Amino acid sequence: MNHEVNTLIDRLEQSGSLDISEYEYLLSKRSGEALEYVAKKAVIARKKVYGNTIYIRGLIEVGNICRNDCMYCGIRRSNSNCDRYRLTKEQILECCHEGYEHGFRTFVMQGGEDGAFSAGRVCEIVSEIKKLYPDCAVTLSLGEYKRAEYKAMFNAGADRYLLRHETADKQHYEKLHPSEMSFENRMRCLYDLKDIGFQTGCGFMVGSPYQTLGTLAKDLKFIEEFSPQMCGIGPFIPHRDTPFGNMAAGTLELTLYLLSIVRLIKPTLLLPSTTALGTLNETGRERGILAGANVIMPNLSPLSVRKKYELYNNKLCSGAETAEYLNELRARMERIGYEIVIARGDIKE
Ligand code: SAM
Repeated sequence: MNHEVNTLIDRLEQSGSLDISEYEYLLSKRSGEALEYVAKKAVIARKKVYGNTIYIRGLIEVGNICRNDCMYCGIRRSNSNCDRYRLTKEQILECCHEGYEHGFRTFVMQGGEDGAFSAGRVCEIVSEIKKLYPDCAVTLSLGEYKRAEYKAMFNAGADRYLLRHETADKQHYEKLHPSEMSFENRMRCLYDLKDIGFQTGCGFMVGSPYQTLGTLAKDLKFIEEFSPQMCGIGPFIPHRDTPFGNMAAGTLELTLYLLSIVRLIKPTLLLPSTTALGTLNETGRERGILAGANVIMPNLSPLSVRKKYELYNNKLCSGAETAEYLNELRARMERIGYEIVIARGDIKE
């Protein structure tokens, strides 16, 4: 047992804060024992706020047309092997209809940055969803827009916005993205979203190329200071048709360790056990919950497009990943002592 590691974890549990160098130390000294210790504390922290409930979100992948060329992403502009699609408003509403019947009370519209999803168009779709399902929350995850555009989406009824910061280190950001994309603009978007009043989510991939324990420590400090309502943390998984196609994937262990640490930074956080975690390991989703996560985002996209939204190779899109298999997911969660609930699942702050 590393006494110093446990002392740091205890301090994080009490204060929700460490120095960057302490985060880095915690990351460098991770071990089976540390993982177990921090997960135990994380579960206690999440249970104090959310009991054993798990919130589900119906993920609608609205399109894979993207103007950006992120080095890691399978739907990047330069991937000519990507079979592009864009859902119509009617198709999106059909997904919501099906999702509502299954018990979903949050719909997440996620997609590439596609000019056809202008702020006006997004507002139109959001208003329609809110009119038809006033008891549901709408989360958007459509990338970077101007402040006034985000404001219009908020006014149209969108409740939450997910925009992973990807890395809190500018040099690292520049290795993951082409020069036309900017770290400053990503951060500007996040601060605008939070300021406007969205429940805002940041996040990053674990094991992304050129990531170091130093950049991860900065991610943790950023999360502590930004204090988002949601945080998406999942392993990087390579996609063969990207410049990072031959890079190693992030590990399950480090992802779980980070989920637990982030739970201790902010016990009320809405923290998903991601699809990427489920892709990496058969029981990855359960392991994420047992590390302190409290949200799962099953796929509600039409079956015909699911394979096309391939951010990384072998992305889960069947079995317990799909809404149709919600019962299986429910049983899997019950087996580890958790319960999927029908609720909007807002943050309890
Ligand atoms: N365009 C929107 C945006 O940029 O926020 C939303 C869609 S984007 C594809 C959603 C997230 O997928 C990204 O924030 C990124 O972290 C994740 N992602 C992309 N490629 C990935 C990969 N190879 N492995 C794991 N996650 C990946």
